[in-house]
Amino acid sequence: VSELAGPVLAIDIGGTKLAVGIVEPNATVRMRAQVPTPVTDDPDAVWSALEAAIRDLPGVEAVVGVGVGCGGPMVVDTGHVSPVNIPAWRDFPLLERISLDWGGLPIRLHNDAICYALAEHWCGAARGVPNVLGMVVSTGVGGGLILDGRLVEGRSGNAGHVGHVVVDPAGPVCGCGGRGCLEAIARGPAVVAWARGQGWTPAGDGSARELAEAARAGNEIAVAAFSRAGNALGVALASVIQLLDLHVVVIGGGLAQARELLFAPMRAGLAQHAQLDFAKDACVVPGTLGRDAGLIGAAALLRRDYSAR
Ligand SMILES: [Zn+2]
Repeated sequence: VSELAGPVLAIDIGGTKLAVGIVEPNATVRMRAQVPTPVTDDPDAVWSALEAAIRDLPGVEAVVGVGVGCGGPMVVDTGHVSPVNIPAWRDFPLLERISLDWGGLPIRLHNDAICYALAEHWCGAARGVPNVLGMVVSTGVGGGLILDGRLVEGRSGNAGHVGHVVVDPAGPVCGCGGRGCLEAIARGPAVVAWARGQGWTPAGDGSARELAEAARAGNEIAVAAFSRAGNALGVALASVIQLLDLHVVVIGGGLAQARELLFAPMRAGLAQHAQLDFAKDACVVPGTLGRDAGLIGAAALLRRDYSAR
């Protein structure tokens, strides 16, 4: 196992928070700080908030590299990002800005779902497993692929977009413009919207968390909503596991916290559609790294094993 050469500055950029930390070669997160992502139209205001959080991080002057995970889409080679949940950044030259502050150090930037997969592979639920899909099921459905121990990036750096595997060609329209993608059915807001359409009336904020509580309390519509999303996950994973001969799929993200509400119908869908012997051995498990996964995965981008580009 190749390690980091020293402590790394890790940056995890999301629509609600900007997290920064220092990650040691053994994957320990030594320092951690986060600030809310500014709600603004000004791209430089978001950048300034991030830069200030980094500057205030104790020990940051000693880092030997910078790893960045950010919501997509992005152009991986140029480092221009347009995160769906940060409207102020459209084609924002993130890699260039970081290079101005950290020129001379190795800098790596990738999709946050790819970082999630790397983190769980490096030291989480898929530690030491060579063939893994890491998935984040949340506001969107993202993923990252590790095959034969190496990160698979594809032609444009977008390999692993499991959220746009089609599970129902006649299904709902997806944000990508397609129809019946996994994401169109299993993303948190889609699960809630389906339940509302069936007559579920939330008493609170109408979040996926509230829907999960309703399901645990026995609400049949809520149970059916998770069952539908879980089945879609299982159908998608049957295809992906058989296409790639995967051993482990790790699932994290907000909706995954519903656990068996989602995992039980997912396993049933997977068992129904993955009948080949090699596919029956595959297992799907929840992630184990929690909130540190984003920072650990950003740091993991600097490990030699994962640096295909
Ligand atoms: Zn799609």
